[in-house]
Amino acid sequence: MASRKIINFSPGPAKIPEQVLERAQKELLSYQNTGISVMEMSHRSADFVKIISHAENTLRELLHIPDDYQVLFLPGGGSGQFAGIAMNLMGLKESRCADYVITGTWSAKAAKEAEKYGKVHLVFPKRDKYHDIPDMSTWKLNPDASYVHYCANETVHGVEFEFIPETNGVPLVCDMSSNILSRPVDISKFGVIYAGAQKNIGCAGVTLVIIRQDLIGYDMPECPSILSYKVQAGNNSVYNTPPTYSIYIMGLVFDWLVEQGGCEAMAKRNLEKVKLLYDLIDASKGFYHAPVHHTCRSRMNTHLRISSADGAVDEKLEKEFIDEAAKKGMIQLKGHRSIGGLRISLYNAINVDEVRTLIDFMREFQEKHQ
Ligand code: PLP
Repeated sequence: MASRKIINFSPGPAKIPEQVLERAQKELLSYQNTGISVMEMSHRSADFVKIISHAENTLRELLHIPDDYQVLFLPGGGSGQFAGIAMNLMGLKESRCADYVITGTWSAKAAKEAEKYGKVHLVFPKRDKYHDIPDMSTWKLNPDASYVHYCANETVHGVEFEFIPETNGVPLVCDMSSNILSRPVDISKFGVIYAGAQKNIGCAGVTLVIIRQDLIGYDMPECPSILSYKVQAGNNSVYNTPPTYSIYIMGLVFDWLVEQGGCEAMAKRNLEKVKLLYDLIDASKGFYHAPVHHTCRSRMNTHLRISSADGAVDEKLEKEFIDEAAKKGMIQLKGHRSIGGLRISLYNAINVDEVRTLIDFMREFQEKHQ
């Protein structure tokens, strides 16, 4: 494999472990002596059925998914599920109303999309800035809601839940696009979990949906068949041609995760990585500033500002940081266009040494510019 000297801190599509890419490279022209690439394989062939079943079984093992949960591999990304969730679940109750917890850009987008298909009730009013999560005692949950939706990790702002919201029996729906498989999670607490692949799972194209069986079958008549949980569950996710290569890569990433020690080992490693980063930020005396409250600081994405001596945000210095880092092979550190600054994404595939390289650069940069 060509050397990969670049460290890709992208929020997604994100770094894929070298071992996964090397295996894919080895199998690119001929998958396990079939003489064809997975890309060229019929989604109904025995070989592909083996690939998709292997991905599902390995995921079940990694997340300890209970038997009464179905795993679906769907098209459309996280955004597809913003609509998919509403079209499949609004009808769970006559209210056709769902509770939404808005803690950042992505949960706000999910709520906006859901408004097309039913009533959306916000459990606390929308705020100007997404720096914290209001205490659950202040949430106004609707007992008649069809479901409660939240985003476990807001990729743009770097706000991550350290707890699973208690919803008194109302099905809990979670967008885990940017922190799935980064730590163990009790699946039985959720009605539905969904996640796009391009961060911790592999390459863009496939969206994972883990759904409790009894929640399947409430899709509205207008729901397109490819987004209907009932149709897709009834067809083992091959109602139509699924994103086959993306499902294959996903299976390889799951194999890699098992080899690494699973979600428990990932949680330990991710904590070690993010501690290195936050220790440096907190010791920088305000040069680096992470606006998110420490109780919900994300382990996956950190939004960061750089200040000049007078304490004001220094956009020129931020640009210099991004340019200098890129010259040293560290890329994709620019903050989301909506909030500016820097963003450092430390998904599963980023290793501790790569974080140390970044930390050393951050320390040098501060010494040079403060
Ligand atoms: N949800 C979260 C938490 C995300 O980070 C993203 C994209 O970055 C999305 C949803 C949207 O995903 P997609 O681009 O796959 O539609």
